Amino acid sequence: ESPAPPHSSRLIIDCDAIAANYLRLVEHVAPAKCGAVIKANAYGLGVAEVAAALLHSGCRSFFVARLGEAEQLRRIAGSGFDITILNGLDPGSEAACADAGFIPALNSASQLAAWRAHARSAARPLPAALQIDTGMSRLGLSHDAALEAANDPVLAKEVDLKLLMTHLACGDEPARGVNSEQLRRFEAIAAHFPGVPKSISNSAGAFLPSTFHRELVRAGVALFGVAPVPEAMSLQPVVRLEARILQIRNIEAGTRVGYGLEHIAPASQWLATIAMGYADGWPRSLSGKGAAWHKGVRLPIVGRISMDSLTIDISALGEDRLTEGDFVELLGPAQSLADVARDANTITYEILTGLGLRHARFVI
Ligand code: PLP
Repeated sequence: ESPAPPHSSRLIIDCDAIAANYLRLVEHVAPAKCGAVIKANAYGLGVAEVAAALLHSGCRSFFVARLGEAEQLRRIAGSGFDITILNGLDPGSEAACADAGFIPALNSASQLAAWRAHARSAARPLPAALQIDTGMSRLGLSHDAALEAANDPVLAKEVDLKLLMTHLACGDEPARGVNSEQLRRFEAIAAHFPGVPKSISNSAGAFLPSTFHRELVRAGVALFGVAPVPEAMSLQPVVRLEARILQIRNIEAGTRVGYGLEHIAPASQWLATIAMGYADGWPRSLSGKGAAWHKGVRLPIVGRISMDSLTIDISALGEDRLTEGDFVELLGPAQSLADVARDANTITYEILTGLGLRHARFVI
């Protein structure tokens, strides 16, 4: 039991595992470099601790989604590394972005024009990444807009191009031909930007052939121990999530449980209500399925998940029953993020980023 102040649930984040995963990726993609995508508060795990671990491991290229995240990272971790803002340049944010030395991903012709206009008024070239849409139709310049920029002799006076990038729509499905189609489209444009570092791959792309790695891989979820494709080398798990038992009860056969009284005990059952609800990021879709665990024993969720609690059947523990105040495992050796995402019919990213700020956090 930890000496920490009392808490109802705890999220334990293993920063050594994050560092180890980073170093494995570095080794795997070499000679390409590996940058770290730590948007959304480092996928919910806490940008301060995650950035510190990655900086300590030698990472010097970070990606966030928003200007506010870039500013937070700068405040927390100082300077001496690149921060690229993937969502691009919000109108009116040019001065804040330029003064801080951030690298906006210019995602459209109008963002490129706004950045160039700001560079002219600042009378110096400003750093930027140029994102090309090669088939995902999400963010990025069209083929024609990219070629127009490439052929503009004045561009280099205004924009210090740090990176030419694109994003794969199906990197986690290596067999799909669209990956090589996106690569082909990207290379057709890349040829017009000699000397500019190129980036195509996220975590999943790191496990595609090395032609997808170019100069920089942008790894996110793999840092946090999620294998983006089954053939990924073993990554270390990073998170544990545990919740306290609030109350234990023994119910008779036929007793109904929870909102809507949907669970009806088929026989006498031992139930434990634990401090983990959908406001803690435990998906309500796991009502009546999914489980918590204790010492390798599966404890099924019964009835509907509430905002602050859910109820599990602990009958399987027999004489070795838990007591009120004990903790059970939600994420850990018995149940991975991938297990929970599968049961909740979603992706690991959504589980991770949804965990929220209510848990006591322990960084080890
Ligand atoms: N690159 C871009 C443009 C992204 O949007 C993301 C995240 O969604 C990543 C890289 C990192 O992706 P992953 O977490 O799958 O490695």
